[in-house]
Amino acid sequence: MLIVHKYGGSSVAHASRIKQVAARVWQARREGNDVVVVVSAMGDTTDDLIALAGQVTAEPGKREMDQLLSTGEQVSIALLTMALQALGADAVSLTGRQAGIATDGVYGKAAITGIDTGRLRDELAAGRIAVVAGFQGLAPNGDVTTLGRGGSDTTAVALAIALRADRCEIFTDVEGVYTADPRVVPEAKKLPLISYDEMLELASLGAVVLHPRSVELAKLHGLPLVVRSSFNNKPGTFVRGDSGMERTHLVSGVAHDLNVAKVGLFDVLDQPGIAHRLFAALAAEQVNVDMIIQGATRNGQNDIAFTVKRDDLKRALAAVEAIKEAVGAKGYTYDDHVGKVSIVGAGMVTRPGVAAAMFEALAAEGINIEMISTSEIKVSCIVKEAEVPRAVRALHRRFGLDALGK
Ligand code: ADP
Ligand code: ASP
Ligand code: MG
Repeated sequence: MLIVHKYGGSSVAHASRIKQVAARVWQARREGNDVVVVVSAMGDTTDDLIALAGQVTAEPGKREMDQLLSTGEQVSIALLTMALQALGADAVSLTGRQAGIATDGVYGKAAITGIDTGRLRDELAAGRIAVVAGFQGLAPNGDVTTLGRGGSDTTAVALAIALRADRCEIFTDVEGVYTADPRVVPEAKKLPLISYDEMLELASLGAVVLHPRSVELAKLHGLPLVVRSSFNNKPGTFVRGDSGMERTHLVSGVAHDLNVAKVGLFDVLDQPGIAHRLFAALAAEQVNVDMIIQGATRNGQNDIAFTVKRDDLKRALAAVEAIKEAVGAKGYTYDDHVGKVSIVGAGMVTRPGVAAAMFEALAAEGINIEMISTSEIKVSCIVKEAEVPRAVRALHRRFGLDALGK
């Protein structure tokens, strides 16, 4: 069998953890498998490097940021390979470039455009364990790029697909995918199984346990994923296609996201083309807009509010400042102390009253809802940042997830 393992930052945080990972990888190799290992930077290295750049300049260039951040993973691959060699394993470390990972040229959130597996196949054929740096690739102009925070999961899934691996296992610091972030909800339960669609929603709505693009890719190619602990041998969570069975639970999970900011414009002209001008200006600044609310018209004017990632707020405000007169806005405000709580479940499509139950649970906690958005399998609300943990716990209780498996 050809298997891909991926180990996140906390799983390789110290030398002793790296040795434990090496032992697990070596075990898989000795069982007769071909093994490719993808690793993240050690512990909080990526955060520390970002902070370091901030001490040098308030506006670090994107190219140099990628040059800097990609070093974190390079440290891990070398150390893990040394640890494997110390155990007697034949192993080789490869950067993204050496592993043939090609990306587009979008620094900081590059997409993988192809993988030339020649080198990797040669190393595997020679009996070596290949240890590949996650989160990085090579742009057409020869520059190093990174895939966005949490992107090592996507490296692992893309490699598994390109190599037609039999298995892709994501090892992390929790035992699988839970009904909510176990750091916020101590009662959260591990799910033995979750569908691609539900996992994609959870990940996109803030559950950082998997990078959303890794789930998207796995779904597209029908690659089953396993999320499990790097600290023990428990079975973890399978992420795969739907079982086709009827749903017993309306809501499978609750997600939250604090990387959110809200922007509102007042008294915008109520005319064709105004929304287009505003959102085209934001797009031109590479700002992704998430929720949008347009208020009821009064006297030929209305209010428009939207949310963006907090990381993008500065650029969003610059775009709004530049466009505000052209759209006739009398003014604007923003709030970067908000967060998003969401309930996700494929079972809610066909059942009325789920959104109402969510609003009731939040109201009972005295939590004010600032914005709402829905899709077939999720409902999201913007609330004050400080109220997010309480909101998540209340929703987890309300939809019977505390009692799951009891
Ligand atoms: P890694 O460094 O292994 O990539 P991450 O920190 O990126 O690990 O992801 C694991 C973390 O995801 C967990 O420690 C947990 O706090 C968080 N998390 C958020 N939502 C969930 C969820 N629904 N199930 C499991 N973990 C979750
Ligand atoms: N080291 C990168 C990050 O912290 C990538 C990853 O861990 O997946 O975001
Ligand atoms: Mg991660």
